[in-house]
Amino acid sequence: MNLIKNFSFVIAAGGHGLRMGGSKKQFMKLSGRELWRWSAENAQSLYGFGVREILLVIPENESLDPEWHYDIPLRVVNGGSERALSVLNGLNAASFDYVMVHDAARPFATPELFRRLIDAVNDEAGAVPVLPVSDALKKIENGEVSHVERNGLYITQTPQVFPRLKLIEAVSKFPSAKDEAEAWLKSGHELRSVEGERMNFKVTVNDDMTIARALMEKQITRTGLGWDIHRLVPERRLILGGVKIESPLGLLGHSDADVLTHAVMDSILGGAGLPDIGTIFPASDERFKGADSVELLREVMRLVNSEGWNVEFVDAVLTAQVPRLNKYRDEIIRSMARFFPFNLKFKSAENLDDSGKGLCMTCRAVSTLGKVIKL
Ligand code: MG
Repeated sequence: MNLIKNFSFVIAAGGHGLRMGGSKKQFMKLSGRELWRWSAENAQSLYGFGVREILLVIPENESLDPEWHYDIPLRVVNGGSERALSVLNGLNAASFDYVMVHDAARPFATPELFRRLIDAVNDEAGAVPVLPVSDALKKIENGEVSHVERNGLYITQTPQVFPRLKLIEAVSKFPSAKDEAEAWLKSGHELRSVEGERMNFKVTVNDDMTIARALMEKQITRTGLGWDIHRLVPERRLILGGVKIESPLGLLGHSDADVLTHAVMDSILGGAGLPDIGTIFPASDERFKGADSVELLREVMRLVNSEGWNVEFVDAVLTAQVPRLNKYRDEIIRSMARFFPFNLKFKSAENLDDSGKGLCMTCRAVSTLGKVIKL
């Protein structure tokens, strides 16, 4: 562990967002926090490794009063017309012997990467994270395409870490350098490399922001269980999953008594953490007398969808001794598949219990629901 090196942490947030169509990416929000804040919070967690202050370099004409409640002090510094000049303002405002310069637009650098750099830097040598080039390279000059050998080529990331006063000298001498390491090398200093991180990519164009936001999303999955029973009586229609079944007996109930659709609805509501259909569509409410249960299902779908849930799959078992239902299976599955992928099995009750005696039908259903949440 580093016991003697103290670091100033300079966040380069002075860009004008030209490659983002003019929106300053350093102030764009990722999971509710501006991009620069991701790096600043990363830095403040490195106090134990010698990071003592944060300098946030913002565009020259911008003003910012950031809410900052951490132990490591954060100061805002105005940048210049070029990246190098902005960084130079940050370096000059800094107080400690060593400096880490980090792009505000790299929110995913890990503390481990910072620690590798802290170990590598010394009075004579700077340190940068690098990654081998993985794509094949071409050079295009005056419309002519030629091959570039990628062996030995690396991309450079930030944070880049240096002894501060020597870096000030180097950047002052080479103000058009694309990064601090370029000015450092052109000044004839030693540069060390540590292994970079693929996830430490730079949010440069709008697509990068789309990727960064996608990384902040997480899919959660829940299952819900539903069960229902209705008495089987003469002179009632038999409706299952919205499909009319030819039968001398039908199910008794306040609505159309579609036992299958009722169990399915309860399983969906259960997965979404909502109360059952009896609560949502009370039997005391005249609106639901003789109701078409598939219309109620449509209502249930609207309700769970409005809470962000997607019904990914429903599996059901219908238990009935009479009538024979197998020939209706495909039609019922098609009817339910208008709403979600659906599977159905029929069970006779082996002449046991009330459904086995033909007095009732029961149905069990299990639903799988998914939802995308922002971390
Ligand atoms: Mg029911």
